[in-house]
Amino acid sequence: MKRRHFITALGMGAAAASLTACGQNNNQDCDQQPSSTPDKTVVHKWKLVTSWPKNFPGLGTAPERFARIVNDMSNGRIDIRVYGAGEIVPALEVFDAVSSGAAEMGHSGPYYWKGKNPATQFFTAIPFGMNAQELNAWIHYGGGLELWQELYAPFNLVPFSGGNTGVQMAGWFNKEINSLQDIKGLKMRIPGLGGEVFKKLGGIPVMLPGGELFTALQTGTIDATEWVGPYNDLAFGLYKAAKYYYYPGWHEPGSMLEFTINKKKLDALPADLQAILTHAARAVNQDMLDEYTARNNAALKTLVNEHNVQLRKLPDDVLKKLHALSTETAKEVATSNPITQRIYDSAYQFMTNVKDYHRISEHAYYNAREL
Ligand code: CA
Repeated sequence: MKRRHFITALGMGAAAASLTACGQNNNQDCDQQPSSTPDKTVVHKWKLVTSWPKNFPGLGTAPERFARIVNDMSNGRIDIRVYGAGEIVPALEVFDAVSSGAAEMGHSGPYYWKGKNPATQFFTAIPFGMNAQELNAWIHYGGGLELWQELYAPFNLVPFSGGNTGVQMAGWFNKEINSLQDIKGLKMRIPGLGGEVFKKLGGIPVMLPGGELFTALQTGTIDATEWVGPYNDLAFGLYKAAKYYYYPGWHEPGSMLEFTINKKKLDALPADLQAILTHAARAVNQDMLDEYTARNNAALKTLVNEHNVQLRKLPDDVLKKLHALSTETAKEVATSNPITQRIYDSAYQFMTNVKDYHRISEHAYYNAREL
C-alpha cells in the first residue's frame, strides 16, 4: 500500500524508473532513491593513447588535462589513463589502436593518417589555408565536424577537435634558404600536404614522429625538420641540432589535433557521460591554443637570446611559389575520392567566405597595430 501511494504521488514515469531500480537492488529503502541519480558504482576505466612523449608540453599535457576534467565532471565514473607514444602503441599507430578497440581513445594529428584517406590532411592544416580561429569555425559552425565524422565512421572512430597550436614555424635548417634552389635535394621532416608541396620543389619529405626528430637531425638522417613552434621546439632541444629557424609556418597555419573515440565504446556510455566527453574535448581544444599563445614568445626569446638561434623569414618569392604550389596540390589531392573532394570543397568555400571579412577585421587590425 505504501508503494502504491508513492507511485500515485510521483506519476507513472518516475515510478517506473524507481521500481526498476528497486527490482535490481532489492533494497528496502529504494523508494527514497531519486531515479535520475547516475549509478556511481560503474567506473569506466579507459586507455587514451597518444602520439606524443608522455606529458610533452601542450600536445601531451592536453590529453592529461582532458582526463582530469572528465574525471572531475563525471565524479570519477570515467577514469582515463593517458599513455605516451610507445608505452602501449607506437606514435603513428594511435588511429589503428582506437579503431580496433585496443584503446578506447586517442590523441594525435589527423594528417598522420593520410594513408587511410588523403582527406584526413585537410583536418590538420591546409598550407596557406585557415588559421586556428578559422579552422575552429569551419569545424564547429561550417559543417567540418559532420564531414570529419563521416570520414572516420568506416573506421569505427568518432573524432573531436583536440587542440590547436596556432601558426607554426617553417622549421629548422642547417643552411640558409635564399632561393627555391636551396630546397632541391633537401631531406626534411615535413608531414601532410606541406610535404607534398615540398616534394614538388625537389625536396625530399620524410615522416617521423616528434620523439625521433632531434636524433634524426643531429645524426644527419634528415637535413631539416619542422615540428611546431618555439614552445615545443625548445622542449625538444632542436636548436642544438640546427642553427637557422625559419618563419612563417606556411605549411601549418593553425594545426588542429584530434581526440578519437572508439564508436562502440562511446555508444555504450550513458548520455551524460557522452556529453561530458564531448564538452571536455571542446574545452581542451580551446585551452591548447590559449597555452601556445601564452608560451610561444617567451620560448622564442630563450631560443634567440640564450641559444643564439638565427631567426630568418622565408624570402617572399619562395613563399609566393610555395603558395601557388600549395593551391595546386590541395586541388589535386581533392580528386583522390568523392569524400575528399567534398571535404576540400567545404573547407575552401568556408575559407573564401571567412577571408573576405577577416581581410577587413583581423588582418586589417594586425596591420594597424604595427603602424
Ligand atoms: Ca608541424
